[in-house]
Amino acid sequence: AAVIVGIDGPSGTGKSSTSKAVAAKLGLRYLDTGAQYRAITWWMLNNGIDVKDAEAVADAAGKPEIVSGTDPAAPTITVDGADAAAPIRTQEVTSAVSAVSAVPEVRTRLTELQRAIAAEAPDGIVVEGRDIGTTVLPDADLKIFLTASAEARAARRSGELGGKEAADLAATRAALVRRDAADSGRKTSPLAKAADAVEVDTTELTLDQVIECVVTLIEE
Ligand code: C5P
Repeated sequence: AAVIVGIDGPSGTGKSSTSKAVAAKLGLRYLDTGAQYRAITWWMLNNGIDVKDAEAVADAAGKPEIVSGTDPAAPTITVDGADAAAPIRTQEVTSAVSAVSAVPEVRTRLTELQRAIAAEAPDGIVVEGRDIGTTVLPDADLKIFLTASAEARAARRSGELGGKEAADLAATRAALVRRDAADSGRKTSPLAKAADAVEVDTTELTLDQVIECVVTLIEE
């Protein structure tokens, strides 16, 4: 039978790297649900929608066509046919995404899309996000909740950003903590650990150790 794995946690815990590597190792598909929230946010910004206006965001939530490619070796995301992989990673999108993600109509739409993608995965899938274990796939075979200290998360995120942004560790840490607080505090399916999730604290672990830990849990 297909194996369904949900990996949740705040930003900077190594969720994406871990999820992709585990999926590739085990021959599973991979879905980055954060990329979908970013894609809808990018479309809102491009179409002049005020992301702070929840009613306007709700009205537009069904408009963009979001397509996710689930090959863990080369995941893709398009919005109305346009490649969105790079533009969804800008600071502008990162700053706006929590407001868009808090709108229930946005969550309902993407949750349906995510369930359909998981149901179609032939041998199974690793789905990463914030509410996979609690809301999207409550019957997943395995739920992982990754954590790490704010310091470790900020350092990893700075390393990813590179260049001039890497210089400002304090600002990175503040932005990350702010986004996680918004994601945890929203009313509809907040960032949360499912009661039956296995928590893995990655603060003192290398990426390879986290991957091995998750693979072992799946194979058990
Ligand atoms: O994982 P990533 O940092 O790319 O996610 C971007 C944003 O998308 C999160 O900060 C959160 O607001 C939203 N998100 C969510 N639910 C998910 C995945 C992401 O609300 N399942």
